[in-house]
Amino acid sequence: MRMNILQAGDTVLRRPAKPLSPRELRTREIENLIESMRETMHQAPGVGLAAPQVGLPLQLAVIEDKPEYTNEATPESLAERERAPVPFHVIVNPKISFDSEPTVEFFEGCLSLAGFTAVVPRARKVTVECLDEKGEPKIIHASGWYARILQHEIDHLRGALYIDRMYTRTFMSTGNLAQYWKDKPIREVLELCGVQQSNRP
Ligand code: ZN
Repeated sequence: MRMNILQAGDTVLRRPAKPLSPRELRTREIENLIESMRETMHQAPGVGLAAPQVGLPLQLAVIEDKPEYTNEATPESLAERERAPVPFHVIVNPKISFDSEPTVEFFEGCLSLAGFTAVVPRARKVTVECLDEKGEPKIIHASGWYARILQHEIDHLRGALYIDRMYTRTFMSTGNLAQYWKDKPIREVLELCGVQQSNRP
C-alpha cells in the first residue's frame, strides 16, 4: 500500500521517534508497515524513508539505492560522491557514531521537502549499530553516499531535517538545481551562493 509522505510542518517530523522492541518488530503490523514503506520509497522514488515521514513516530527506516537511480550520472560524479548501489534493508533503533568530521559537501534532498534541495555537509564515514527487521543486532560500517543516506534517515528518527544542517544560502528548488547548478563543482556553488569559508566545518 502506497502511503502519504508528510511534508515539513507536520509535528511528527520534529519529534524524536520511539524505539521498537524485537518482539514488537516481529508482528504482522510492522511487517506490513515495512512493505508499505518499501513501496512508497520506490514510487517516490527515494533512497530512504523513515517511519515519521509516513506519520509513525517509530525508530525504523528503510533504505535502498538502486543501480537505475544513477543511470544518468557520470562515472566522475558517482566516484566523487562515492555512490554505489545499496540493497534494500531496514534499520531499527540505530545508534550512529561519526568516524570523520562533517566535511563532505553535496546537494541533498528529502521526500518531506518536496521540490527543494541544499548543500549539506556530512561525515564521510559512520558506524551504525541497529537491529534489522528480524530484530537481529547489526553493525554497519558505511562511507560515501551510503553514509550520507544513513545520517539523513537517522536524523529523521531524532526529529531533525537536512534544513537544520544545510548551508542556508544554497537552499533552492530542484528545478533551479537542474537548470543552473547541477554541473558546477560544489566549491564553485558555495562561492557563487556566498557561503563563507568561516561558516563551514
Ligand atoms: Zn528525508
